[in-house]
Amino acid sequence: KAAGRGRYVFFAEHMDDSIRHRLDVERDLRAALAAGDEMRVLYQPLYSAQAGKITGAEALVRWHHPQKGLMAPSTFIPVAESTGLIEPLGEWVLEQACEAAVTLPLDSISVNVSAVQLRNTKFAERVFEILDLTGLEPSRLELEITETSFIESAATCQPNLDLLRKSGIRIALDDFGTGYSSFSHLCHFDIDRIKIDQSFVNAIDVREGGSAIIQAIVDLAKASGMQVTAEGVETSEQRSFLQKAGCNSLQGYLLSRPVPLEQLTGMLVRSKGI
Ligand code: C2E
Ligand code: CA
Ligand code: CA
Ligand code: CA
Repeated sequence: KAAGRGRYVFFAEHMDDSIRHRLDVERDLRAALAAGDEMRVLYQPLYSAQAGKITGAEALVRWHHPQKGLMAPSTFIPVAESTGLIEPLGEWVLEQACEAAVTLPLDSISVNVSAVQLRNTKFAERVFEILDLTGLEPSRLELEITETSFIESAATCQPNLDLLRKSGIRIALDDFGTGYSSFSHLCHFDIDRIKIDQSFVNAIDVREGGSAIIQAIVDLAKASGMQVTAEGVETSEQRSFLQKAGCNSLQGYLLSRPVPLEQLTGMLVRSKGI
């Protein structure tokens, strides 16, 4: 035992910082999921581009680490994905979001799904169980999937996607434009919505031709029967361009940051006058 412990110390001291960080995150994340009180879900509203009404909200997970404080998803989602912890974490977020949406006057609730989850042949079944448990209509759930997960595992994900869509759940292609050969995916998969990545939205005011690219994306998506959401809207110039370009909905700090459920409820009560 002593030798083992000695070896561990030796290893730990010489371990690359990033590996140590990953192991720390994995251990703490496991504990957090077991304890169940360090994770929170924030909701960022989606606004209809024309009327400016809140039509939906995206669930975004937060981790309040007891020592490290608030951790951004970019610090722990990759670790969760490589350790399989994304499955319990993702299901927890989905259950929270569905439970919240049942009582909210929203058309739909959006939840991010990792490619790792989609590759599990039981994924669609788990989603249906959570819908049953919470009582949310499948048509009010939208799952956001990144392009890279389509490319990396199109064949393994397809049976899940077919089952999900058949039930009425909608599929959104997240971070659209950041993967390669994006446009070919529009033809190959049944997708209900694309979410234009914030890097394109940023390019509206900084890069010549940035707005032409967005217009082309919107036109193509709409011609293929898809809805279009622009994310990362930060300026009123961006908003007015995206409205004119024909986006269906907008999301971004200009309109609202991700907020706790109570705050979203308050915003909905005020905007609907109920
Ligand atoms: P995403 O799905 O692309 O989510 C949008 C991210 O952009 C969120 O960051 C959001 O807070 C941020 N954002 C929204 N509006 C603006 C804006 O106007 N300007 C800027 N600069 N940023 C804006 P967040 O919450 O840190 O999440 C980062 C990523 O982590 C998400 O990107 C998503 O890929 C992943 N993620 C978050 N929650 C979950 C989850 O429950 N499951 C999975 N699998 N991934 C999640
Ligand atoms: Ca998303
Ligand atoms: Ca996105
Ligand atoms: Ca993103």
